[in-house]
Amino acid sequence: MRPSLVWFRHDLRLADNPALSAAVARGGPVIPVYIWSPQEEGEAAPGAASRWWLHHSLASLDTDLRARGSGLVVRRGAAGATLRTLVGETGAAAVFWNRRYEPQTLSRDADIKNALRAGGVLVETFNSGLLFEPWALTTGTGKPFQVFTPFWKAALAGKPPLGPIAAPPGLPASSVWPASLALDALGLLPAYDWTGGIRAAWTPGEHAASASLDRFLHDLAVGYADDRNRPDLSGTSRLSPHLHFGEIGPRQVFAAARAQTARDPACAAGIDAYLREIGWREFAHHVLFHFPRTTTEPLRREFAEFPWARNDRAQRAWRRGGTGYPLVDAGMRELWHTGWMHNRVRMVAASFLVKHLRVPWQDGAAWFWDTLVDADLANNTLGWQWTAGCGADAAPFFRIFNPVTQGDRFDPDGTFVRRWVPELAGLPTGWIHKPWAAPEPVRAAAGVVLDRTYPAPIVDHAKARATALTAFAAIRRGASNASVT
Ligand code: FAD
Repeated sequence: MRPSLVWFRHDLRLADNPALSAAVARGGPVIPVYIWSPQEEGEAAPGAASRWWLHHSLASLDTDLRARGSGLVVRRGAAGATLRTLVGETGAAAVFWNRRYEPQTLSRDADIKNALRAGGVLVETFNSGLLFEPWALTTGTGKPFQVFTPFWKAALAGKPPLGPIAAPPGLPASSVWPASLALDALGLLPAYDWTGGIRAAWTPGEHAASASLDRFLHDLAVGYADDRNRPDLSGTSRLSPHLHFGEIGPRQVFAAARAQTARDPACAAGIDAYLREIGWREFAHHVLFHFPRTTTEPLRREFAEFPWARNDRAQRAWRRGGTGYPLVDAGMRELWHTGWMHNRVRMVAASFLVKHLRVPWQDGAAWFWDTLVDADLANNTLGWQWTAGCGADAAPFFRIFNPVTQGDRFDPDGTFVRRWVPELAGLPTGWIHKPWAAPEPVRAAAGVVLDRTYPAPIVDHAKARATALTAFAAIRRGASNASVT
């Protein structure tokens, strides 16, 4: 029987991989393929930190495939032409893949499917990355949801997501095995190795993904509803890069989480809160599918008129973690060092850039894109537009996070700030989130000298807030009749 190709993309796993299972079910040899084609992915092409993750995730997938008598064929180039070449080299009669939903990959994949089918090749595609297809959930009037709560209510009220599929026990190898590039040839790892902090914090791959989920469900889920907002505690699942690269799928998470509630009803509130966050991920992907322009444009069009400021010095200070606001700086340094930032701190740091500094949210999203290991076009776009107040179900613009009160509330002992901003570690807790306000002798005893050992605030919170609100009032006046289309 002629072989099948399985084209791996954001589904770097063997379990709950419908494309892989369909290829095995068809019978005949199965050839797993990865094609590096960043130029075709446009804004979804991975940034620097994500490339590190991708390299190791592909290595892990290859190891798992080899353990089943197979292996990953790695190529580089235009995906459609490469698949056609591989069909020619192997005599494959079928190509299977799991769908992606980013604007540029969607249209590219449709063209590839048509071209392969025109050449007589069977092509089948599947959903592996979402609980529900983005076109399957609509409002009562058939429109896409733009508000999370009714979206999630509708999602939970309908048919439950399909249960996950087990990994195939073995993969029939082909007698004709195409040549593969070595993974290093893709150049995903940086020439100068700056990834030590990321390496220490993460293990990419399917096994690490399941282990993280298990640890979360057994140890952390019970406290998640309270702890999820605390950057000083390790209270969240840290599954985001694993979910982005598809080392684990949301249906696996959903099924395992529900099973945990059945085993331990004390977890019910934590699991509900957790699945709600998986719901936000789902919502972000559905919004991006229906409003593809939102990767660069505000969903609420009146925000296109917002009077942003150009302030490269302040933006550099924000990136480096040198704004003088300890919670913001701790988050930005955690991001630079580990490729990840806690969600609460992402909101505060993003809000600071957009509202205190009035830097366009697109600039912040671009920095996150390059530095996050979990950079995800749907989640990053939604997160930034939500924070800026211009997206789906967004925080109102006039609600401006105060980094000091957020620090006092969510990092009450200053543990998070002390970890990432060690030059402030000696300050008493009462001053840790506002070192500029501490009496001089208290700062001196802690070894803190403003603008020498740690910056004075680059903007005054009250003044920056007032300026942002004035700017917002201006667009509100001009947009009394604006609507989202
Ligand atoms: P948990 O609390 O354990 O949540 C479980 C999963 O739910 C996460 O892994 C993630 O897949 C999903 N999730 C949780 N919160 C959100 C949310 N607010 N929106 C969408 N999905 C969510 N998440 C990304 O995966 N990639 C991004 O590029 C990204 N950029 C963001 C940018 C900004 C400005 C903000 C405010 C948020 C962003 N998020 C992004 C969402 C969120 O911060 C991360 O998903 C979360 O911090 C990941 O940690 P975790 O896996 O421990 O989360």
